[in-house]
Amino acid sequence: MAQLINGKELAEKLQKNTAKEVEALNAQGIQPGLVVLLVGENAASQIYVRNKERAAKKTGIHSAVMRYPETITEEALIKEIEHFNRSEEFHGILVQLPLPDHINEEKVLLAIDPLKDVDGFHPMNMGRLFAGMPHTIPCTPYGIMKMFEEYDIPLAGKQAVVIGRSNIVGKPMAILLLGADATVTLTHSKTEDLAKVASKADILVVAIGRGHFVTKEFIKPGAVVIDVGMNRNEDGKLIGDVKFDEVEPIAGYITPVPGGVGPMTITMLLQQTIECCRRQVVDHE
Ligand code: NAP
Repeated sequence: MAQLINGKELAEKLQKNTAKEVEALNAQGIQPGLVVLLVGENAASQIYVRNKERAAKKTGIHSAVMRYPETITEEALIKEIEHFNRSEEFHGILVQLPLPDHINEEKVLLAIDPLKDVDGFHPMNMGRLFAGMPHTIPCTPYGIMKMFEEYDIPLAGKQAVVIGRSNIVGKPMAILLLGADATVTLTHSKTEDLAKVASKADILVVAIGRGHFVTKEFIKPGAVVIDVGMNRNEDGKLIGDVKFDEVEPIAGYITPVPGGVGPMTITMLLQQTIECCRRQVVDHE
């Protein structure tokens, strides 16, 4: 039976430290601030934003959610971002994705000041990560690295397989694992014999967005299995990309869904808001 990696519990512990860091900044007269820009009425986005705002408030980070109608133009949204780039009240800016089809996501992400890019999606921050000079890091893979660290899971020399190559999860995950001296294979929808490739992994990170796709055939006994997926089944229940009941008896460690990667993503967002604040106010980068 695998050991459960309890992301919820770990997130609570780390967020207590974050709250202490906020207190220490407050004592110096500094108030870290995070602004979240939400366009339209996407139900999942509303939930994510609410959770982020709640967690920010709990740790003492000043936060605001700016809501814009689905019909806002790209130009108007970029103007809003430029306003927050200049604001001294907010040290972190997050644009909740996805955006409506008439808005070019790339242009919007490029408009965010890289110093305030708490999500780490700006090509400048992506480039820094790939060059080994990280500034902000995409929060989901960053949170997963924190899980490895907190659970003392060794990475150096291990075979790591990442399933999914998105810019926000798979690609940065592979780079972070490589930086920790794992031997990394990055797989995707065109990978041949995926189950066989995955079954060589000591560390398996799954981020594809297909409910219960990863079955026991994908798992090396004792492997560390990280499930990033968040999918709704026919009953509307939140399920991961990994068939937990089937994989758990074989794996060495496993993350649940919910209560695994999700809470850690939010924790790293808060942590990076503080780091951005420090860079802007204390270090004057
Ligand atoms: P994405 O942008 O849709 O990318 C999915 C990736 O999976 C693509 O690289 C795709 O390959 C690959 N893929 C799709 N079907 C596959 C298959 N049958 N075999 C192998 N690879 C396959 O997704 P994402 O944004 O990375 O998100 C992935 C999942 O993680 C979603 O469920 C999302 O909701 C969840 N998520 C959770 C958190 C969290 O905090 N817990 C954060 C972010 C995302 P190609 O490139 O070849 O198309």
